[in-house]
Amino acid sequence: MQQFNFSHAPMPAGTAALREEIRAFLRVELATRTPLQRVQSWMGFDAEFSRKLGRRGWIGMVWPKRYGGHERNALERYVVLEELLAAGAPVAAHWIADRQSGPLLLRYGTEQQRGRFLPAIARGEQFFCIGFSEPGAGSDLAAVRTRARREQGGWRVNGTKLWTTLADRAHMMIALVRTSGEADARHVGLSQMLIDLSGPGITVRPVIDMAGERHFNEVVFEDAWVSDDMLIGLEGEGWQQATAELSLERSGPERYLSSYQLLLELLVAAGPKPCETIRLLIGELTADLWTLRQMSLSIAGQLAAGKDPVVEAAIVKDLGAGFEQRLPSAVQAILDDELGARNPALRPVMNYLLQTSPSFSLRGGTREILRGIIARGLGLR
Ligand SMILES: Cc1cc2nc3c(=O)[nH]c(=O)nc-3n(C[C@H](O)[C@H](O)[C@H](O)COP(=O)(O)OP(=O)(O)OC[C@H]3O[C@@H](n4cnc5c(N)ncnc54)[C@H](O)[C@@H]3O)c2cc1C
Repeated sequence: MQQFNFSHAPMPAGTAALREEIRAFLRVELATRTPLQRVQSWMGFDAEFSRKLGRRGWIGMVWPKRYGGHERNALERYVVLEELLAAGAPVAAHWIADRQSGPLLLRYGTEQQRGRFLPAIARGEQFFCIGFSEPGAGSDLAAVRTRARREQGGWRVNGTKLWTTLADRAHMMIALVRTSGEADARHVGLSQMLIDLSGPGITVRPVIDMAGERHFNEVVFEDAWVSDDMLIGLEGEGWQQATAELSLERSGPERYLSSYQLLLELLVAAGPKPCETIRLLIGELTADLWTLRQMSLSIAGQLAAGKDPVVEAAIVKDLGAGFEQRLPSAVQAILDDELGARNPALRPVMNYLLQTSPSFSLRGGTREILRGIIARGLGLR
């Protein structure tokens, strides 16, 4: 049976200064941002803010300098992400490209793809979205039906992607498509492609979420053209590549900080001498938060050391989503008029999270799928 590894990851020298640097930057940049805007953090889109981060060298931090990166280490990047999210910075524009698309291109992309896209991502100028899910293919990506047919010089793409975050504002999609075989041929015949969303034959339609917001979309491809040089990695290897990409998505500080703003608002409302119920709640939430942080940091340390802690990442995402969902319900259970009056931001931030937090255990892999991965890691299935 596999043992979990959550060994302590010591912060490298220099991270305290980096933390201060980003805090000073955020104090100025986010001075007018309201609590309700801050709680949206990695769903908050602000292209100009992303460009400012790019100019500071805080996107593509660990990538080679020859591709516009900054050759810093994974724990330094962790510090920057943690500060951005804890402050509620609007990071959505570059988030997917920095976290997933860039690393995927570094690992599997051609020299030409790396040279073309990575510097623009690192400058905070080029935004990406992920085209995995489809009607009928969410957890089960092997059921992907969007098909790319071979033609002279490239591929003709037809099909529909669903729940695509940022498709309305991203420049590029990295899509998982079927280049051979049938949808029931499981993991065989899938490939990944870079698709320019401004091209002909592509329609992006909004999908409005429960909170009345547009974050995700339906993207329909009707004879859209993708040239040969936009294939990522090897034809037919899309499943293996996509699986590797998903593990990049599962253990960062975004997996336990989505509701953090509410904890901050609770502290303001509680004041210096809270009653025992509130004291206990704050203590419990803080202990959970700190434990998750240590676990998540440990994974960042392992990634920095070249390891691939897939099971541990699934554990952090599952426990983290549980924490992020429990926080708004726990505040709702104790919120009365008096507490609400002490901090008028408490109720709106809580209400926003009550509406959005059900999705926290869906995005990036559902709870059941994660537990399946953990069970397999334990040798139980
Ligand atoms: C906020 C948000 C943003 C998203 N952004 C993107 C994006 O940018 N790009 C993208 O491609 N997708 C995106 N998604 C889609 C997301 O990846 C899927 O919703 C998710 O993978 C689940 O797929 P599904 O919705 O089809 O549900 P299904 O796969 O149909 O699952 C329905 C239920 O059945 C359970 N289930 C499914 N299979 C199993 C199994 N084998 N064993 C046990 N239980 C199972 C699931 O856990 C779930 O409870 C986003 C989703 C959300 C909520």
